[in-house]
Amino acid sequence: MTTPHATTPHELAVLRQRYRLERERRVRPDGMAQYRDTEAEFGYYAADPYTAPTERAALRDTVDVAVIGGGFGGILAGARLRQQGVKGVRIVERGGDFGGTWYWNRYPGIHCDIESHVYLPLLDETGYVPDWKYSPGEEIRHYAVRIARKFDLYADALFSTGVTSLTWDETAEVWIVATDRGDTFRATYVVNATGTLTEPKLPSIPGIENFRGHTFHTSRWDYAYTGGTPEGGMTGLANKRVGIVGTGATGIQVVPHLARDAAHLYVFQRTPSTVDIRANRRTTARDVGADREGWARKRRENYLRIVSGEPEEQDLVADQWTASAGLLEKLLPSFRRQGDRKTFEVAYEAADAAKMNELRTRVERTVTDPETAEKLKPWYRYACKRPTFSDLYYPAFNRDNVTLVDTADTHGIERITENGVVVGDTVLELDCLIFATGFFVGASGVHTGKLPVHGRGGGQLLHSWAEQGPRTLHGFTSNGFPNLIQMGSFQNASSVNFTHVLDEQATHAAALVAAAEAKGALIEPSRETEDAWIAVIAEDAPDHAWFHAECTPGYYNREGRGRPNGPTAFPYGAVAFHQLLARWREESIGEVLQSRADARP
Ligand code: NDP
Repeated sequence: MTTPHATTPHELAVLRQRYRLERERRVRPDGMAQYRDTEAEFGYYAADPYTAPTERAALRDTVDVAVIGGGFGGILAGARLRQQGVKGVRIVERGGDFGGTWYWNRYPGIHCDIESHVYLPLLDETGYVPDWKYSPGEEIRHYAVRIARKFDLYADALFSTGVTSLTWDETAEVWIVATDRGDTFRATYVVNATGTLTEPKLPSIPGIENFRGHTFHTSRWDYAYTGGTPEGGMTGLANKRVGIVGTGATGIQVVPHLARDAAHLYVFQRTPSTVDIRANRRTTARDVGADREGWARKRRENYLRIVSGEPEEQDLVADQWTASAGLLEKLLPSFRRQGDRKTFEVAYEAADAAKMNELRTRVERTVTDPETAEKLKPWYRYACKRPTFSDLYYPAFNRDNVTLVDTADTHGIERITENGVVVGDTVLELDCLIFATGFFVGASGVHTGKLPVHGRGGGQLLHSWAEQGPRTLHGFTSNGFPNLIQMGSFQNASSVNFTHVLDEQATHAAALVAAAEAKGALIEPSRETEDAWIAVIAEDAPDHAWFHAECTPGYYNREGRGRPNGPTAFPYGAVAFHQLLARWREESIGEVLQSRADARP
């Protein structure tokens, strides 16, 4: 990272002060408690608008592997298991089809904001070449289905079904999987691929339950009401006053479409996002080198190296993520920082300020009304919030039928009435109120207890972790919980291109199952093996806590509470982690293979 000349020490000091004031303006005393879940009387917001569940008998059978979750994590686990020759794979998915995030999120304007040629997994294997640099959501959802078909994952899949508990049967040495459809089937192995941003959240705004207009969450788009498709064309809104709450990565993609189709659009903003250049365009197979064998793997690896902080001579993707790769260190707990920490921080802050100045200038240059432009400027450090990308968002505010309602001083919308929304002295009447207010982080997995997991001796994974701290080997397996493999970034590695990480995890999970099958063994690390792994990730755990404590509130810092320091991920980046896993599979996989009870002397 080079130090830009444009930012002097004085300018940096002024910026720090401005960021501090903006943060103070936004922090709420209720922190995470400002949100409510979408259950009970709010269950309407989480119901599946796309597929009605079909009647089926409860299952009591046995499979080789139960995979929880039919998003890219689960699909990749299924594909890699198939490649290892595993036949009995049952994917259990809450949605009515495969796709995960791309099944649920179908809002108008939805696109992947990572380049499709590196985001879509298994392109070499499926022979598919996306023809846009950033694919629309529907293409991604259809591609997920294509992989599932290719690897025969539909045959035994259970849709519209949620797993409610996992219990290790000590005698039979299998997992008993219970679901909300009355199933209690057995599985020799369980792969947990439940994702991280799956449970929609709503703000606990007083009066929210009283609104008599139409309302829904962006992850359950109601096309029956709006008309149109994810491409837009929402004729049902032509005579409607629509409000959208939230200007995160979702809000940024939806707003231009609502602006075009609604009679009037009110955008309720609390904190502006950074909105960088998108430059989406059609691409040919030649542009991306798809005429060469192994092109997709090569491109993904090149991308992963750059966004993980590894030196790389060529930038094949060349987008805003790679251009700002040096600023991802604070975004990812797993990133290879180059050079001495102090020198790094000095250069980092200057590069950060230069980037944020550039993004604020972008607002000024695009939005014609100076007052609106001022409100749209982000005043925090780049990695405080999820970066977003759009060439349509700012121009939407130049339309006469769009009003930006800044709610920073009132900490969001103050009250909702039967007919609309109250912010300060302003009462705005609305026909439709849409929540682009995001998701609870990691809420569907075992970390929050929503999926109770009872291991050896009936012990609950979460209780055991609450007492002793989270314990895993490589994030995948834990002592006391045999044949349970967890996917996700915890004590593992992360990247902005998460499907790449998921594919490496799926490969690893399938190799564990294959090794256990070959030996007739159980997969279970010893406590000593876990200790050794925790020591590795603790050795150089990044000190990001101070950075996020100074950030404007959001889900990255638990709404202003900060981000805990400590060993939450492998600290040297995804590339090094994947190399470590590959070596471990070659040399040491035997250390987690334990004899089954019937084979013990
Ligand atoms: P976010 O949590 O990022 O954003 C929620 C928005 O709602 C924020 O702007 C927040 O404001 C606002 N908000 C919450 N409560 C209130 C309130 N009471 N009054 C006014 N505003 C309120 O959710 P998103 O769905 O936008 O994104 C979630 C994640 O999903 C992203 O971070 C990204 O990881 C992923 N995503 C990825 C995409 C892709 O293309 N790959 C596309 C879309 C999403 P404040 O900031 O002040 O809290």
